[in-house]
Amino acid sequence: MAKFVLIGSGLAGGLLAAYLGRRGYEVDLYERRADPREGNIVGGRSINLAISTRGIHALQQIGIADEALQHAIPMRGRMIHDRSGELHFSPYDVDPKKCINSIGRAALNTTVIEAAQRHPNVRVHFNHKCTSVDIEAAVAHLETANGAVMAPADTVIGVDGAFSAVRKSMQNEMANFQYDESYLAHGYKELTIPPGTDGSWRMEKNALHIWPRKSFMMIALPNPDGSFTCTLFWEFEGPRSFATTKSDDDVRRFFEEEFPDAVPLMPNLLDDFRSNPMGSLVTIRCAPWFYRDKTCLVGDAAHAVVPFYGQGMNAAFEDCVVLDECLEQFPENRERAFAEYFRRRKENADALADLAIGNFIEMRDKTASKTFRAKKKLDHALEAVLPGIYLPLYTMVTFTTMPYAKAAKRAQIQDALVYASLFLIAVSLGAVMLWLVAR
Ligand SMILES: Cc1cc2nc3c(=O)[nH]c(=O)nc-3n(C[C@H](O)[C@H](O)[C@H](O)COP(=O)(O)OP(=O)(O)OC[C@H]3O[C@@H](n4cnc5c(N)ncnc54)[C@H](O)[C@@H]3O)c2cc1C
Repeated sequence: MAKFVLIGSGLAGGLLAAYLGRRGYEVDLYERRADPREGNIVGGRSINLAISTRGIHALQQIGIADEALQHAIPMRGRMIHDRSGELHFSPYDVDPKKCINSIGRAALNTTVIEAAQRHPNVRVHFNHKCTSVDIEAAVAHLETANGAVMAPADTVIGVDGAFSAVRKSMQNEMANFQYDESYLAHGYKELTIPPGTDGSWRMEKNALHIWPRKSFMMIALPNPDGSFTCTLFWEFEGPRSFATTKSDDDVRRFFEEEFPDAVPLMPNLLDDFRSNPMGSLVTIRCAPWFYRDKTCLVGDAAHAVVPFYGQGMNAAFEDCVVLDECLEQFPENRERAFAEYFRRRKENADALADLAIGNFIEMRDKTASKTFRAKKKLDHALEAVLPGIYLPLYTMVTFTTMPYAKAAKRAQIQDALVYASLFLIAVSLGAVMLWLVAR
C-alpha cells in the first residue's frame, strides 16, 4: 500500500487521515502545533463554526457524525438585530427542521484526529512544522524542537490551510502553477458574550445573530457553555475602522452607537477588544492542485474562501469525500485519481469563492432591509408550492450536496424565471387596470 504524508492536522487533515486510514494506506500526519487535546489549538481562528449538510455527510461516511455533533447547537435562522435593538427572525428554510449547527473547532478537531488514530496504520506527529516539500521526490522537510527531520512518502498531501507550505513548494517548483490571492479590506476580531449567572444563553440560543450595518457587521454563534462567540467584521482602514478606534472610549462609543443591545451583554468588551488578535480574510485560487502522483492539496490549502457562507470547512470536508471516491475509482493510479479529484472540485471551489464574497454583501447590508426579508418569504413560498423544483440558493448550498457551481447556475436561472414571471404578472395587471379604466 502507498504511503501518504499529510501536512496539517486541522479539520480537513484529521478527517482525510481517517479516510485514508480506512482505505488501508500508511499515513503519517505532521502538525506544527501541539496536540489540540493539550488545549492550544485555536490560536486566533474562529472558536466555533457552522457545520451543515456537506460537512455532516462527510462525517457520516466514516461513522463519526453523531460523536462530532453531540454538543453542536442547531441554528434555525438568522436573528437580525437593528440599531434600535429590535429583532427580526428569518428562518433558513421553509422546513423548520433544516438548520445549520454551531460546533466548537477544538472539539471537532479532536474528534477527527481521534477517528484517524483508531486506524493502526495512521500515526500523528505534533510539533512538526513543514518548511518545504521536495515535490519530485515526495519528501517533506520538517522542523522540530530537536532539529530538522525528513519525511519521505509516495505522496505528500498539503492540508496545511490558507498559508500552505506544501502549496508554496509547488508554486516554487512547478512552471505552470497558477496562483491568485485576494484580501478583503475587512478584518475580523472575536469577542464574547458570556453565559448568564445560571449558565443560560442571554439571547436566543437556536439562531445565528447578525447586526448588519451596511459596510460592516457583527455576528454571534452560540456555544454549549451558554456563551456566544461574536465576530466583528470591520474595515482595517478608513475614517471609522479598526485603525481609528484605538482607545477604550472610542471602542465603547462605537459599540454603543452600533450594537447598543449587545453592549450590556459584553462585560469584557474592552479587554477582549484590546487583547484578541485581528484576522484577515483571504480568497485563494490556484491550479493545478496536484503534481503527478507526488503531491496534492486539500481544503483551504487548495481554495481558501472568506467565511460568509459558512462553507470553508464544509467544502474542505467534501474534498475528503471526493478524493476518497477518486482513490477508490483509480486504486492503481494515484495521478489519475488526483486529476479526477481536481476536475470535480476546482469549478466548485471557484463558485464557492464567489458565493462567499456575495454573501458578505447580503449579510452585512441586505439582511437589514424589508426587501430582503420579502425575497426570503417569496423564496420559501415558492419552495413550498414547487417542492423539489424551486430551491433557494441558500438551501442548495447549505442543505444539499449539489455541486456549488451547479447550485449557483440553477439559482441564476430560477431568479431570471421568477423576475420574468413577476414582470409579466405586473404587466398583465396593468393591462387589466387600463382596460377597466377605459370601459
Ligand atoms: C472567522 C472564520 C470563521 C469561519 N467560519 C466557518 C464556518 O462557520 N463554517 C465553515 O464551514 N467554515 C468556516 N470557516 C472556514 C474554516 O475555518 C476553514 O475552511 C477550515 O478550517 C479549513 O480546514 P483546513 O483543515 O483546510 O485548514 P486549517 O483548519 O487552517 O488547518 C490547517 C492545519 O495545518 C497546520 N499547519 C499549517 N502550516 C503548517 C506547516 N507548515 N507544517 C505543519 N502544519 C501546518 C495548522 O496548524 C492547522 O492545524 C471560517 C474561517 C474563519 C477565518
